[in-house]
Amino acid sequence: MDDPLRLDDYAPFVGEATVEEIRLLARQVAGARIQHLNSTRVGGGVAELLGRLVPLMNDVGLEAEWTVIEAPEAFFAVTKRFHNALHGAPVALEPEMLSLYRQVMAENAAKLRPDADFIVIHDPQPLGLVEWRHQTAARWIWRCHIDIAAADLRVWGFLKPLIDRFDAMIVHIPQFLRRDVFVPQYIVPPFIDPLSAKNRELPAATVQQVLKDYQIPDDQPFILQVSRFDRLKDPLGALRAYEMVKRSIDVGFVMAGNFATDDPEGREVFEEVSQKARLLADTKLIVNADDTAINALQRAAAVVIQKSLREGFGLAVTEAMWKGKPVVGGDTGGIAYQILDGVTGFLVKTVEGAAYRLRQLLSNPLLAERIGQEAHLWVQSTFLVPHYLRNWLCVLLACRHPESGLTALAT
Ligand code: UDP
Repeated sequence: MDDPLRLDDYAPFVGEATVEEIRLLARQVAGARIQHLNSTRVGGGVAELLGRLVPLMNDVGLEAEWTVIEAPEAFFAVTKRFHNALHGAPVALEPEMLSLYRQVMAENAAKLRPDADFIVIHDPQPLGLVEWRHQTAARWIWRCHIDIAAADLRVWGFLKPLIDRFDAMIVHIPQFLRRDVFVPQYIVPPFIDPLSAKNRELPAATVQQVLKDYQIPDDQPFILQVSRFDRLKDPLGALRAYEMVKRSIDVGFVMAGNFATDDPEGREVFEEVSQKARLLADTKLIVNADDTAINALQRAAAVVIQKSLREGFGLAVTEAMWKGKPVVGGDTGGIAYQILDGVTGFLVKTVEGAAYRLRQLLSNPLLAERIGQEAHLWVQSTFLVPHYLRNWLCVLLACRHPESGLTALAT
């Protein structure tokens, strides 16, 4: 179990000045009650972020809490459609799906804290709770973790009137801003925590032990993808790229994956991936590895791939970059913002492109090292948890004082 989080512990990573700035901002909203709501406590980036943000908000003097909505599986089948549609996939919505969505919202409305100052809704699953905003005097913020730039209009048409009832909306990167919503929008890219079990420095012996536990040879370089079993992460594309690389380079492939309780498609994708992996030499499929094991795998990998077809923001990408790894990432959504092509990693559009960059990095260790170093510096300057907390405090202040100059943060 991780130690309680304290802002001061991050000074060595971001500098005293940033820590001071955060304390100054936090004093302006001291004691504010913030309720975050999402739909899963484990699996996926949102749970990962909330597990760090909420304790740190409390450490700087806010009263933050994290509530998970409850819903049957059928509800998550509907919200997975929302999710895919917001990422741009055309989906059909039946009237019964929308009524199930509303019904689950009604059942969860009792979870809203009437005394909250801020209610923060993460992603589309609990979005509809805003219909109960009259139960609280809070300011409402929609924290969107998805690339909604090209959302399918049927789902967008259902969700947008709900979004317009918020006081503010936050997206990851400028490309995700929408011209058609009526609330102020803010840009706050997600972070990683350099002190978490997932990212902290590890002794070489621990890394070796993890490789041994998973029977991964330590004398053969390997390519790694870490992601939920989700088609939008293109695990089969990653395997096909590996297949092409393997023809000319002696390398292995490790895929570490898990399931989110709010994603009903995971098992099916897992089956497809394991079938394909079985056909290829030197592949290893690892399921539900703990954070230290993921950390060790990222540190031991020669190159990391994140072959996503759509991505709000790939935390797994930032994690690998922090560890000085060159990442080959799908040229999509947040990844295209995280990776400056050719400088802090490589962006690819196709399986062939991925294979080409993987081969280039594997056969040129100096290039791999230089890119890994740039990647680490980029993460250190922008994507660590204190940067995120600072940006959040600015948004809270701007929401509380819409008349102040802080609205300059809004687009
Ligand atoms: N992750 C993990 N174990 C796995 C697969 C993923 O711990 O087997 C973590 C990964 O390290 C990252 C998060 O889950 O911290 C995934 O976040 P990301 O933004 O990459 O993707 P999302 O799942 O949110 O779409």
